[in-house]
Amino acid sequence: MHVPGCGWQEIPPDQRNSLSLRPSSTMSYQVLARKWRPRTFREMVGQGHVLQTLIHALDSERLHHAYLFTGTRGVGKTTIARILARCLNCETGITSNPCGECSACREINEGRFIDLIEVDAASRTKVEDTRELLENVQYAPSRGRFKVFLIDEVHMLSNNSFNALLKTLEEPPPHVKFLLATTDPQKLPVTVLSRCLQFNLKNLSPEKLVEHLKFILGEEKISFEEPGLWQLGRAAQGSVRDCLTLLDQAIGFCEGTLTTAGISDFLGSIDQTVIRDLMDALIAQDATAALATIRKLADRSPDFAVVLQELLSWLHRVAIAQVVPDAIDNSLGDREQVLAHAAALSRENVQLYYQIALKGREDLPAALDARSGLEMTLLRMLAFTPQLPGRAAAQTSNSDPAAAGQKKKLIIEPNLAQAASSQTAAALTPKALVTEAAPAKVSPAKVVIAKAAPVKVDEPLVKAEVIPPAQVTIAAVAPVAQPAPMANPAPSAPVSVTPVPLAELSSDTWPQVFLQLGLSGVTRSISGHCALASVSGNQIKLILDTRHAALFNEEHGRRLEQAISEYFGIAIKAAIELGMPASETPSARRVRIEDERRLAAVHDFTHDPVVQALVSRFGAEINYDSITPINPDQH
Ligand SMILES: [Zn+2]
Repeated sequence: MHVPGCGWQEIPPDQRNSLSLRPSSTMSYQVLARKWRPRTFREMVGQGHVLQTLIHALDSERLHHAYLFTGTRGVGKTTIARILARCLNCETGITSNPCGECSACREINEGRFIDLIEVDAASRTKVEDTRELLENVQYAPSRGRFKVFLIDEVHMLSNNSFNALLKTLEEPPPHVKFLLATTDPQKLPVTVLSRCLQFNLKNLSPEKLVEHLKFILGEEKISFEEPGLWQLGRAAQGSVRDCLTLLDQAIGFCEGTLTTAGISDFLGSIDQTVIRDLMDALIAQDATAALATIRKLADRSPDFAVVLQELLSWLHRVAIAQVVPDAIDNSLGDREQVLAHAAALSRENVQLYYQIALKGREDLPAALDARSGLEMTLLRMLAFTPQLPGRAAAQTSNSDPAAAGQKKKLIIEPNLAQAASSQTAAALTPKALVTEAAPAKVSPAKVVIAKAAPVKVDEPLVKAEVIPPAQVTIAAVAPVAQPAPMANPAPSAPVSVTPVPLAELSSDTWPQVFLQLGLSGVTRSISGHCALASVSGNQIKLILDTRHAALFNEEHGRRLEQAISEYFGIAIKAAIELGMPASETPSARRVRIEDERRLAAVHDFTHDPVVQALVSRFGAEINYDSITPINPDQH
């Protein structure tokens, strides 16, 4: 930024090292916040609006006798005040660009300049302290041009102290300058405020902080991954000092290179690339990628609620980008990604995902565990994404009555007692409630739809007359499907009962063999958590998932071995080892198939024309959790 006429120019980071920014390297180790504390206005990060005014005042020698710097912690209040003290006392004359070489400049740098009196008001609140301090005011400076009083956290002074200070502020001797700093200007008496020139320092944007971090890391010759720096920039919440302190700690934590993963571990924050990966998976409608991302994330045991929160915040920005692209700045370093996602998704989808994520976060405490809660939220988003043209074609063939050969009856049972007064419910005459629905191919679903009728209240005064929300229960119950021949067996097809010959025993066929072994009780349960690792002649090796090995003993191994031997008709030697199965265990397979069937049921239900009509015409809300596939095994 160049401001004509005032000599203020912010130095681009790549040129700063050619200037007077000379961190002292004589000390053993100095924290970065101290080492890189700016010594001139030009080295300051941000606060250009304040600096311009100060530089202009200094250059034109129109000096006020009291300055008040306000702003949150770590934004540069005392730093600016100290630089100003140097500007006022540099031996080259009052200047906006102190030399840094003369004894006054050096002594102020080292904190031992006799005419700069720094007071932390937080520790000296008593009126005696202030009196003692102000008695000093009448004496001329011993070395410098001005006697400078720098009072930090000035709002902490007592009322009597303020009164004592006020007298001096009313008639200050010409050789005295007051530099006051506070995080809380509201607590200052108006009489004091009105006698100060006030400067409000702003929080720094993550963009500015990241730029500064990059510069310092370049100077310090420390390698880094930029997404990690954005996390630090966000975590610092606008404070340069906090940002550098975090940087210091992150360098210690990461031991060398500042990796994005290392920084998110250190901050306990969520690596934004994870959120982007999840969004990419949603856009690609790729459940495998979404689950893989969550699995990778789970290794670092994150707070899954925070993941959802970050996803919500991302979706929020994508939604804004779809309406007002210019509103998305690059202050978080991800403008391009947000815009790309905004272009790749429909507005409706973004709203839908946002809603599902919001609900997912709300439901998280009730989920089996946080990870499965997040997984279900993502799978729900995928399940409810309106079909893309290519997928729509596949969907059409699914709902073709001839193809399915099944009929499903959708019964909607309104809770008449509650719904009686609702116009919405009145429209749902019993006749309309029993509908021949389009047949569905996959398992029928039993669903409860809880409907809250939107109630508009035009005048707040009629609140008492608000009609209670109507409850409409919809249960979709289908006659049990005759096991219709499946044209293209889905992964959820029932396991075949065809015996598997020993020659075909593999990790893929093992779950099928398992189901035919006739095991029961704990042996069955434990064997279900085994994956087949290898087969060699009549010897097989099984890996028992360590997480389910608590009840395992040799007896179970013997029973399993016996069952396998009987199944194949020859003596089989089965070795069972504990570990992480590399292939799918029968139990994992069962869970997966159940999930798939459930998602299929949800999909079918939500694509049912009647349900869609209920949703679009009456604003019905689907209670997704109540959708369960009817298990053919039970019938
Ligand atoms: Zn100087």
